[in-house]
Amino acid sequence: MDAVELKSLACGYGADFVGIVDLASLRGIRTEPADLLSGYKRAISIGIRLSDGVIDPIVDSPTPLYQQHYLRVNDRLDDIAIRVSQYLQKSGTKALPIPASQLLDMKNWTSYISHKAVAIAAGIGWQGKSLLVVNPECGPRLRLVTVLTDADLEPDKPIKNRCGKCLACAEACPATAIKGENTDSHFKDRDEALYFQRCVDKVVGDFAKRPFIEKPICGVCIRACPWGVKKRKSKPRIGTGKGK
Ligand code: SF4
Ligand code: SF4
Repeated sequence: MDAVELKSLACGYGADFVGIVDLASLRGIRTEPADLLSGYKRAISIGIRLSDGVIDPIVDSPTPLYQQHYLRVNDRLDDIAIRVSQYLQKSGTKALPIPASQLLDMKNWTSYISHKAVAIAAGIGWQGKSLLVVNPECGPRLRLVTVLTDADLEPDKPIKNRCGKCLACAEACPATAIKGENTDSHFKDRDEALYFQRCVDKVVGDFAKRPFIEKPICGVCIRACPWGVKKRKSKPRIGTGKGK
């Protein structure tokens, strides 16, 4: 199986974006457990574009519609990751689907691996000032999942940061948590980009306590990004094996 075939398969299962990372390029990344990547060669990053109809009405706080959309898209991503893994396994290669949203460390808000870091290395988007993955077609209006595999798939390349002088996410943030710093590739840690605790305090201490939200979600920096509203059209990216 080659990378184009694998991407086409994932898009057939409902993915909008698929990119492949050589795990050598993620050396040193924090994982849980520490040897999570051992025995694997590649990570497959899979994204689903969020609905503009759900994101557009967000102003300064999450909506009940966004809460449901967030949960259902995560379910869908998990389903795609499982199906891709089944296919890889049947083809005789190892595969591990990493859940789309399962926190393992509630203090540091970390999971098995950062889906964002994988997606950035896979060329699905660049790391915005908000820390979100910003895709040229839909901005940060996407959610992500990862599959690890030992299949020898051709990796993609990261894309250049295009935030420029924009500060829309920082200006919109209801917690003034986004510092407005930029990065050529990716931030060394999230504290470079965010006053992270301010974001946590807002989503946990305020939004998660609101009726019909009940989850630590926000959506404001997703809504604010101009890259999410400039480009409305999104075709399934079955890819050529190269980053854009
Ligand atoms: S998720 Fe909300 S609170 Fe956190 S940085 Fe984005 S806009 Fe600010
Ligand atoms: S809103 Fe502007 S600064 Fe923030 S991630 Fe989007 S392009 Fe970058």
